[in-house]
Amino acid sequence: MIPGSFSYHRPKSVQEAVGLLAKLGDDGRALAGGHSLIPMMKLRLATPEHLVDLHGIDGLKGIRREGNRIVIGAMTTQHDLLASDEIAKSLPILHETALLIADPQVRYMGTIGGNVANGDPGNDMPALMMTLGASYRLEGKAGGRDVAAREFYQGAYFTALEPGEILTAISVPVPAAGHGYAYEKLKRKVGDYATAAAAVVLTMAGGKVASCAIGLTNVHETPLLATEAAKAVIGSSLDAATLKKAAAAAEAIMSPAADARGPVEYRKHVGGIMVTRALQRAASRAK
Ligand SMILES: Cc1cc2nc3c(=O)[nH]c(=O)nc-3n(C[C@H](O)[C@H](O)[C@H](O)COP(=O)(O)OP(=O)(O)OC[C@H]3O[C@@H](n4cnc5c(N)ncnc54)[C@H](O)[C@@H]3O)c2cc1C
Repeated sequence: MIPGSFSYHRPKSVQEAVGLLAKLGDDGRALAGGHSLIPMMKLRLATPEHLVDLHGIDGLKGIRREGNRIVIGAMTTQHDLLASDEIAKSLPILHETALLIADPQVRYMGTIGGNVANGDPGNDMPALMMTLGASYRLEGKAGGRDVAAREFYQGAYFTALEPGEILTAISVPVPAAGHGYAYEKLKRKVGDYATAAAAVVLTMAGGKVASCAIGLTNVHETPLLATEAAKAVIGSSLDAATLKKAAAAAEAIMSPAADARGPVEYRKHVGGIMVTRALQRAASRAK
């Protein structure tokens, strides 16, 4: 379990990092917390000849409010998210989700940028970012651009990141005051990736669902936005028949792999249950 040999680079600016990555091409990889990349290198599933460590770049870490959005630097760790009063107050579902990732050791190192840029369908943050309507700031040698999380994921480990680009920040619109939220994750044990998970953000008015977004983790080769399931609950009081309809609509778009977490039908079934539970818990929290 020893990775292949590689050269280590520690740029001091975004410009230097993207210049290096552009020059190195397929031989170079950005390194953030290393808690997805290094295990892949130890298994020889990734064999980069050069690692470009982003830790030496000032300004890639931190959480700030910009008007009605929260901007999170890519190198902000999952532990930093959990320690942030701004996140707890404005984006409590992000706090809830970060707490369900792995264990404290992984959360001290793993970054939000690495989690969303990795393209692993098992990562928890991508579906949440799609649910929240977040956008990603990407920087390359030719300049910067913003890509919606909902348009970023193209296949397993395949994203809208162009060769030589890095993700520098994530911008999340603050959900409406009084919104309800829940991230429900079934895992085999503490520290495991999801067998299936669902994120829900909704608002209620007069006892009925006024708006709703639902995201799904690890039930497809990419994170999913369950648009039809969300539509099914709008205007309802989340009665049993509506919840059943929403779960069925979500299950209809799932195509998980059969693996150590269970066969396809089981993972779809528990995916539906995660949607039901997340809807109920989100509604109970809405004001
Ligand atoms: C035991 C264990 C359990 C885990 N359980 C979970 C879990 O339950 N849920 C979960 O979501 N995650 C889990 N993880 C993964 C963990 O959260 C990772 O830290 C995270 O997915 C990747 O973040 P990183 O900072 O470590 O990225 P790295 O491992 O450094 O990088 C991952 C990939 O993203 C690229 N990358 C990183 N940062 C950038 C950037 N700024 N711009 C462009 N590309 C970039 C790298 O080149 C690499 O390809 C687990 C990890 C371990 C070891």
